[in-house]
Amino acid sequence: MSSLDAQEKILTTFLSAGFQLHPEALSHLLTNLNLNEVAEKLIKNLNTMQEKPIVLTKDIVETILNEQFKPTITIQESSSSFEPLAKKVEPRIEVLEKEKPKYSTKGTIEDFIKYFNNRYEKIKKILLEHTNLRDASTISGLKALQNSTPVKIIGLISNIRTTAKGNKLLEIEDQTGKITVLISNDSEEAQEKAKHVILDEVIGIEGTVARNGELLIAKDIIWPDTPVKKEQTKAEDPICIGLLSDLHVGSKMFLKKEFERFLKWLNTGFGNPKQKELASRIKYLIIAGDLVDGVGVYPDQEKELEISDIHQQYIEVAKLLEQIPDYIEIIITPGNHDAIRIAEPQPPLPRDIAAPLFELDNVHMLGNPARVNIHGFKTLIYHGRSLDDITSAISGLSLSQPELAMVELLKRRHLAPIYGERALIAPEAEDLLVIDEIPDIFQAAHAHTVGLTNYRGVITVNSGAWQSQTAYQKTQGLTPTPARLPIVDLQSLKTTILRFGA
Ligand code: FE
Ligand code: ZN
Repeated sequence: MSSLDAQEKILTTFLSAGFQLHPEALSHLLTNLNLNEVAEKLIKNLNTMQEKPIVLTKDIVETILNEQFKPTITIQESSSSFEPLAKKVEPRIEVLEKEKPKYSTKGTIEDFIKYFNNRYEKIKKILLEHTNLRDASTISGLKALQNSTPVKIIGLISNIRTTAKGNKLLEIEDQTGKITVLISNDSEEAQEKAKHVILDEVIGIEGTVARNGELLIAKDIIWPDTPVKKEQTKAEDPICIGLLSDLHVGSKMFLKKEFERFLKWLNTGFGNPKQKELASRIKYLIIAGDLVDGVGVYPDQEKELEISDIHQQYIEVAKLLEQIPDYIEIIITPGNHDAIRIAEPQPPLPRDIAAPLFELDNVHMLGNPARVNIHGFKTLIYHGRSLDDITSAISGLSLSQPELAMVELLKRRHLAPIYGERALIAPEAEDLLVIDEIPDIFQAAHAHTVGLTNYRGVITVNSGAWQSQTAYQKTQGLTPTPARLPIVDLQSLKTTILRFGA
């Protein structure tokens, strides 16, 4: 079919449905390969509108194709003036790290011992808040007890085995000793919970002494968990926060067109009234790592790079971010593709490599993880390398629902519980990956899939990506959901996902 035939056909399709296509909209539509399908989708959407437009402009077509809202909202042209509400609101950002991390470990054996002691102490403190663990014994103390004595302990899981009969055996340590824990066959609850235990996490065990203190038969496993929030933080100002990550600028798969559409939306509020209102209320943006694709991050990366120089990659990021209106504050934290040490906690991006970003007045450079109070909201930002580890350690979890994996981190009160897998941990004297304080908003990234949930009052968001599927992801069977922006309304606590791509 010639392109003229295609034009004829599409014009007729719309006309017979009662819509005229503006020439610009027509040429926009003709760029679609699956034209018939797109036309069908459009007409279906248009027919559900209360006020149907007669002439379809390019903006209307674009908005419908990219929108996520219920189609009952009338699409309007947004040629009217755009006066953002957020412009009138003073920003309030406070970095919560009491003491800036020193990032100074040398990684000696002593450093590791100190690190794990600190992890144990911090999580033990949280576990001791559980009334049923308050009288927990030390592991060495069990030796003096008679068989069948009921006890509770708090320890770190150093080994997990399954017996020939299918029973789980855990090796648990505290500072006084080590004990083997057998999950009781009588307790279905304990059996079920045991499926979720992972290496190196600190847990509480309730059980009875056996074999003269050599064994503990567990009837319950207790995680530190996150208590239900009594009161939700809310902002008085009508502002929103937009969560992004994993731009991977420099990659051939970086979705530049979609990102530019996002920039256009921020600057002009294009879209339907609801979308325009959201644009007008964005006061903060967080970019949780992987700003660039990096160089030499994985084998054969050169083949997938559009920009092969790391400095150039950051220059390109800055060129994009400088188009964000300056009344919007941008928080940037690094990820595993960024040019900084990969072991967590990661320091903020260094000045020499990310110089053009430091020139932007509305940019705040923080480490990974970062704890920051944004307009009264305690926000925990973590790139999320450990999501790889936790999704492979616990059956039923996957990167396609990263928010569920994030909930597992909240239950464990630790951002990277498993040691020595893909998430590299630097043994700093203080374990900064412990979730001491419960955040209002918990953002992670890295999964390249958008995910949203509310866990016991914690708004839990995975911010997806702005990169389409890579060859590697294809081999892993991972289908990203890129070019979507999760937005948290700080006034109503409502969350929305805006789509800027297909
Ligand atoms: Fe990434
Ligand atoms: Zn990543």
